[in-house]
Amino acid sequence: MERIRHQAGDGPAAIPVDALPALDGELVVDTASRAALADDFGHTAHRLPLAVLRPASVADVAAMLRFAAAHGLRATPRGQGHATGGQAQVSDGVVIDMRTLDTVHKVLPDRVVVDAGARWSDVLVATVPSGLTPPVLTDCVELTVGGTLAVGGVGGTSHLHGLQTDNVLELEVVTGDGRVRTCSPNYDRPLFEAALAGLGQCVVIVRATLRLVSAQSSVRRHRLHYGDPRRLLAAQRRLVTHHRFDHVTGHARPDEHGGWAYVLEVGRFHTPPATAEDETALADIAPWDGEVETKDLPYLDFVSGTGRDGDEPPAAGEWTRAHPWLGAFLPDLSAGEAVADVMATLTGEEVGEGGRVVVHPTTTDRFNTPLFRVPGGPVVVHVALLRAAPPDDPAAMARITSASRAFSERVRAAGGAVHPTGTPPLTRDDWQAHFGPVWPRFAAAKGRYDPHHVLTPGQRIFLS
Ligand SMILES: Cc1cc2nc3c(=O)[nH]c(=O)nc-3n(C[C@H](O)[C@H](O)[C@H](O)COP(=O)(O)OP(=O)(O)OC[C@H]3O[C@@H](n4cnc5c(N)ncnc54)[C@H](O)[C@@H]3O)c2cc1C
Repeated sequence: MERIRHQAGDGPAAIPVDALPALDGELVVDTASRAALADDFGHTAHRLPLAVLRPASVADVAAMLRFAAAHGLRATPRGQGHATGGQAQVSDGVVIDMRTLDTVHKVLPDRVVVDAGARWSDVLVATVPSGLTPPVLTDCVELTVGGTLAVGGVGGTSHLHGLQTDNVLELEVVTGDGRVRTCSPNYDRPLFEAALAGLGQCVVIVRATLRLVSAQSSVRRHRLHYGDPRRLLAAQRRLVTHHRFDHVTGHARPDEHGGWAYVLEVGRFHTPPATAEDETALADIAPWDGEVETKDLPYLDFVSGTGRDGDEPPAAGEWTRAHPWLGAFLPDLSAGEAVADVMATLTGEEVGEGGRVVVHPTTTDRFNTPLFRVPGGPVVVHVALLRAAPPDDPAAMARITSASRAFSERVRAAGGAVHPTGTPPLTRDDWQAHFGPVWPRFAAAKGRYDPHHVLTPGQRIFLS
């Protein structure tokens, strides 16, 4: 059989080309195309795929998965590659570059139908002019719809609307054995629940019907400053449980004295002439330091980050540094102590100029995605260490990795859950503990929908 062979050291490195299915798009094997997808936002993992599929149709995705299953290859869907630990990489198979399937198909008064490779910014551009928006957006809207639906998608409005995965009305997916299927909460629910926050293990999400709500035209944003994380958390907890603002987040960033500045950020969505009067909403929260910073922003600027978060962009080169990011959800009761301990040992240098530590409590009563694991209780605290490693400094990287392990252990000991997009990805044992009561269901879904274990080995969940 004729084979395309690749560089030595690149695994089995063989694609049986004479068995390749007809494609509407293209399968490329040149080194530059493959090397471009042997990286991600973390820049810590590098696995050279055998080939890259640029699908032009859902049929291409299905044909490639059937081909991979038949020839013992792996395949992984990849969106914008903003994972930070190689989760969308594969060395013994094909990366499916979902960015070529990025059409926003139709915008209706309550929903939008969109290809999974579209970015949330594409969705906003299509919906906001009609006065509509997805209810939950991630901090960065340049992530793909499929990429965040595969992990959950938490945002500043999650206390009101849950996760992005809780706002999906229908999905079109391709299962690991190459079958195109439609699923929703009312139709083939087991498949729907295996897809959402399913980390690309059972299906490739190819199209999604997403809930839309009215978009207001403006956001009045307030920033309040705190000197310690416990007061920040107390203020945030009150705001999210009482639904005082549409958007509530917070973070710590290095201050000019070598310590940490804690910032509470809230936003109220409104359309003038309606106003956003917030005096009473802030009246009884934990006292802050200094003045409240208030700014009015167009809705699109606010949600797309323009002028919202870190008004000054990070220096050139900062975003190309390694990003061994790690996020977790902590139980409300232990979060204050855990965050204070982490911040006491973390240095500003370790998070870098563009980095920060997200401190973001949210209520969980709107969370309804079985595979998205959070600790029990009405409030959980999302803590994310968004670090940047100094370039060419393996010792610093080793320190960060060891600190990440210690943080993960602390999270687990406190009954929390590590967020699965970080660095390094979890081990198989960690995963079983992570999924806890839903592990048997998840493992059964893997066997049913991806019986040949083709999909997404970079998550290291079902590796033997
Ligand atoms: C700057 C930045 C800001 C972020 N902000 C937030 C935030 O506010 N809230 C939050 O929850 N997360 C946030 N994240 C994490 C982010 O949601 C995840 O890393 C997300 O998976 C990235 O989307 P992507 O399109 O880049 O996916 P990729 O990194 O390309 O893929 C991530 C995983 O999803 C799988 N996948 C990709 N597409 C599909 C598909 N169509 N079907 C099935 N599986 C698929 C991949 O195989 C891989 O395992 C942020 C990350 C970054 C770098």
